[in-house]
Amino acid sequence: MRQNYDVIIIGAGPGGIFSAYELVKERSDLKIAVFEEGNELAKRKCPISEGLTDRCLGCKTCAIMSGFGGAGAFSDGKYNITNDFGGTLYEYIGKREALALMRYVDEINMAHGGEGTKLYSTAGTRFKKLCLQHKLMLLDASVRHLGTDVNYVVLGNLYDELKEKVEFHFNTPVERIEAREGGYRVFFHGESEFADCGKCIVSVGRSGSKWMEKICAEMNIPTRSNRVDLGVRVELPSVIFSHLTDELYESKIVYRTEKFEDRVRTFCMNPNGVVINENTNGIMTVNGHSFDDPAKHTENTNFALLVSKHFSEPFKDSNGYGESIARLSNMLGGGVIVQRFGDLIRGRRSTVSRIEDGAVTPTLAATPGDLSLVLPKRILDGNIEMIYALDANAPGTANDDTLLYGVEVKFYNMEVEIDQNLESCHKGLYVIGDGSGVTHSLSHASASGVYVARRILAAT
Ligand SMILES: Cc1cc2nc3c(=O)[nH]c(=O)nc-3n(C[C@H](O)[C@H](O)[C@H](O)COP(=O)(O)OP(=O)(O)OC[C@H]3O[C@@H](n4cnc5c(N)ncnc54)[C@H](O)[C@@H]3O)c2cc1C
Repeated sequence: MRQNYDVIIIGAGPGGIFSAYELVKERSDLKIAVFEEGNELAKRKCPISEGLTDRCLGCKTCAIMSGFGGAGAFSDGKYNITNDFGGTLYEYIGKREALALMRYVDEINMAHGGEGTKLYSTAGTRFKKLCLQHKLMLLDASVRHLGTDVNYVVLGNLYDELKEKVEFHFNTPVERIEAREGGYRVFFHGESEFADCGKCIVSVGRSGSKWMEKICAEMNIPTRSNRVDLGVRVELPSVIFSHLTDELYESKIVYRTEKFEDRVRTFCMNPNGVVINENTNGIMTVNGHSFDDPAKHTENTNFALLVSKHFSEPFKDSNGYGESIARLSNMLGGGVIVQRFGDLIRGRRSTVSRIEDGAVTPTLAATPGDLSLVLPKRILDGNIEMIYALDANAPGTANDDTLLYGVEVKFYNMEVEIDQNLESCHKGLYVIGDGSGVTHSLSHASASGVYVARRILAAT
């Protein structure tokens, strides 16, 4: 391994990949290294997807969250081109620039295997009116749905192109960063090895949130505590939502609850998809995805219902709060819990036989149980209110057999203090993507990667 680089990128998720892509596209002479905790794409094998087990084994490095492609590698590959959700990158770089970069990322994806996939749009649809008539608000977005399979192909093509020009070091978690004269030194392999660089891009995503906190504390980089989103993943027959999903694919719908005036929103909608486990720092939560290939479609659609919880002083550990609730579900169910909506409303747990008797076949092997023992009342009430509100738009949503999986948690990294260049208080140390707390999506994280590369190119 070389020991001196122009740029070191920590993390090979969308943020890191698009930084590398843009840097080498413009300056093939630059010496760039990417250090990644997980494996290269082809070696990312989750024991569940490999059929070796139906339960998460809590691997030391999670193949779903880590490795080339980052947390997005096996995702549904929904690139939402919007400033309305997915992050607040626009607050740093402006709305016009943020959208332009998201479109640029889309062009790169199209040129690397994504051509032929559909770009959906909510603009000017009849659903806006329909939603408003039922106290729901449909957010504006264009959505490129790559699908899990095409997303994987695009990543494979990007890797094949990049590996010729960039040094990748997989299974190499960076342990520490040290500011030095004119640059940075990053340490790995028990600090027995290191590499130096002039500029360092940190793009460690959500799985690197704890590490990022440690680095900020060590390097005196100011941070702000953030929020956590909590709720359930809903699974129902796809025909119930088909009028929305056929036209929009994903609809981001927001509802303000009558009881607490909390905002509940739909998140990550997967028509004909599957519900999956997600392992964050050893805690099992739920997520979902779907394939572009019709042969892999299921008869169900799933989406999350989430309530954002912001904390005020003195409490700062919003992620700790979310983790504690997820741990409770893990303690009661040994992992994710599933419950029929009808059982939840009747105040009883679901059992294997009640689920088997139901009309919806679960796509995830979760433990039947009682989500009211896990989720705080305010969040559970908000989810129930929204299910009834959605039922007016998509009759059948509030059927007894609708399945709820819990808990779905969206952890947000604390916000790292960065400037309009996405640069920290240390000159030449950039923090981008979900690890910065600024983005929470594939498109925003990727756009932040391109942006920072261009800032570095402009300064080099
Ligand atoms: C199951 C699932 C489905 C999703 N579906 C969608 C979707 O359809 N649309 C959407 O917009 N978003 C989706 N997301 C979110 C999306 O994947 C993330 O917003 C996006 O990947 C963030 O990119 P990133 O580069 O900032 O971080 P990540 O993708 O998390 O990548 C960070 C990388 O850094 C590595 N790393 C962490 N710490 C270190 C360290 N110390 N040293 C070296 N490497 C380190 C990690 O291993 C990881 O590979 C999904 C997420 C999941 C988990």
